[in-house]
Amino acid sequence: MLRVTSIYELRKAVTACRGQGRSIGFVPTMGALHEGHLSLVRLARKVCDTVVVSIFVNPTQFGPQEDYQRYPRQRETDCELLEKEHTDIVYIPSVTEMYAEDASVTVDPGPVSQIFEGAVRPGHFRGVLTVVAKLFLQVQPDRAFFGQKDAQQLFLIRKMVKDLNFPVEIIAGDTIREKDGLALSSRNVYLKQQERKDATVLYQSMLAARDEFQAGERGLGELQRSLKKVLETIPELKVDYATIVSDETFQENDPVSENARMIVAGRLGSVRLIDNMSLK
Ligand code: AMP
Repeated sequence: MLRVTSIYELRKAVTACRGQGRSIGFVPTMGALHEGHLSLVRLARKVCDTVVVSIFVNPTQFGPQEDYQRYPRQRETDCELLEKEHTDIVYIPSVTEMYAEDASVTVDPGPVSQIFEGAVRPGHFRGVLTVVAKLFLQVQPDRAFFGQKDAQQLFLIRKMVKDLNFPVEIIAGDTIREKDGLALSSRNVYLKQQERKDATVLYQSMLAARDEFQAGERGLGELQRSLKKVLETIPELKVDYATIVSDETFQENDPVSENARMIVAGRLGSVRLIDNMSLK
């Protein structure tokens, strides 16, 4: 596994692989790797000749009150995990390598970036899309792999690729969960013992609403109530949103169609949790 920290070294390595006619698969991460990330690496390994993984905690997608400083960082463990998955190139740029001091041009993420996650985290998706666009231009992958876990992020990345004609195929990986349903997240390490138990309520709420949908309920309000009824069983959870959006537009529709997804998010103590599930 080749470890690179500069855009120059990265381009040299990727160009050499491409010169041998190898397809390039790319998995961007912020490190603190878990089975969710590794499932994407395995998916990339399966369908691409060369697998590139980036580890970059991107400061521009964190709000001023968010956890940029304390975000878990474990470079050596991450590299060991990536080596075991037969990653070819791991790219670990510094903040100064990624952003020139006077950088001022960004990607405008459009209206879907203002709702749900974007309403709670102003500027988040501008930061995400800008760094993903830069990473795409640095790595120039044939395919890039993202988790369904971050549904709105995935939606906006697909939208950026379509609207700006990036020559990259976006492939989504299923959400990997703990046995009790909690979606794996690098931030789960912050959960205290009781919070860890309570955190499964997001998954439970979506199972309940999906049951109602499968029993024939199509009313948006009724399905939202079904989500909220379960979420309210944990009063410590401060719910940011709990609703159903169309997979095509990421907007709420009433009545709810088959091609829709429940999205839930909230704060438990100091930890922000988000999750989603298809209604299909
Ligand atoms: P992050 O390091 O949090 O930026 O995540 C890097 C990639 O891993 C993103 O595409 C995430 O959607 C994906 N990811 C995070 N958690 C999971 C999970 N539990 N299952 C599958 N993919 C995930």
